[in-house]
Amino acid sequence: MHFFGFSLLHTDATTCARLGRITTPHGEIATPAFAPVGTQATVKALDPRDLRELGAELILSNTYHLYLRPGAGVVAALGGLHRFMDWDGPILTDSGGFQVFSLAGRRTSSDEGVLFRSHIDGSQHLFTPEMVIHVQEQLGADIIMCLDECAEPHDRAYNEQALARTHVWAARCLTAHSRPDQALFGIVQGGIWADLRQQSAEYLTGLGFPGYAIGGLSVGESKAQMYAMLDVTARLLPADKPRYLMGVGAPEDLLEGVTRGIDLFDCVLPTRLARNAALFTRRGRINLRNARFEQDAAPAEVGCGCYTCRHFTLAYLHHLFKAEELLAYRLATIHNVHFLLQLMRNIRAAIAQGRFPALKEEFLAGYRVIPEETRDANQERRGAAHKTYTDEAR
Ligand SMILES: [Zn+2]
Repeated sequence: MHFFGFSLLHTDATTCARLGRITTPHGEIATPAFAPVGTQATVKALDPRDLRELGAELILSNTYHLYLRPGAGVVAALGGLHRFMDWDGPILTDSGGFQVFSLAGRRTSSDEGVLFRSHIDGSQHLFTPEMVIHVQEQLGADIIMCLDECAEPHDRAYNEQALARTHVWAARCLTAHSRPDQALFGIVQGGIWADLRQQSAEYLTGLGFPGYAIGGLSVGESKAQMYAMLDVTARLLPADKPRYLMGVGAPEDLLEGVTRGIDLFDCVLPTRLARNAALFTRRGRINLRNARFEQDAAPAEVGCGCYTCRHFTLAYLHHLFKAEELLAYRLATIHNVHFLLQLMRNIRAAIAQGRFPALKEEFLAGYRVIPEETRDANQERRGAAHKTYTDEAR
């Protein structure tokens, strides 16, 4: 029986954009795809019915969080993550490495693994490659990830050391991995260093994974540096395997990633922004707290097909946020997740019809990019570390 597969259906004539299909035991994922993040076995403010209605085909959940609470054993005893959260579609879990390495001052790493203290109760835990595979096997996601060391992108010496460790750990994860119904992806690291990225892509493809992630980007480097690393890395990964860019979800980055041959993305951006009253629109972001929306009878985005825009005015959404009503978070999240999933649907249709470059140009001409977006997200994540890992971590 074929548990996991990837079919490359079409490659764009002038860019590296690819149309594909991932097959998993819990269904198919049309690629390029964006995965909303359900950090603690829930996409914040949404339920699985909302997610199905939005057309989500893949959900990401965080091993670090679920390992600490409620515990992977609890999830396993209750039938695994799909059953536990009642999401019967494909799920991807990360290894927990990213969260653990974000615990500045609360962790020490060695060749054996990472020793860290829980953000919940300060208890001490050790993540080894074997351990994170075991935990992810208990959770039971369709796609699982190797333990990697995500280094500060500008520190060459640290990146060299972290990369060597990431490679040893990838081989150990491959050996430890035992469930044939789960696909284990390798993660290319190397910071902003082209030669390290190349070395990593070559080493990991030599080990032979069913899919490859590109990690350690959108963590403080510039967008130009991120795109340059994608240019270097994506072309070194096998064309017949899916490529996953971790933790990236700004609309312009999705378009640039697809242009460079990326098939999968995940990010907390749409859900986190929604809880901060910020909505994506075709012209850029708006903030619902802005007084100019007080009496605005228009929807957040004219022509948007989401539930929120079909039923509610900007004035109402503004009011909900001002009054701190719980519905504010749900309606804003529905719109933002819809916005990114609709963008991916439009991208897939455009690739199929040979007009992806035109779609990209048209979108970017109308969309006002927040220049320091990557950096902002990063500061939020690393600067306010206490918020970081208790909230969503990517
Ligand atoms: Zn909408």
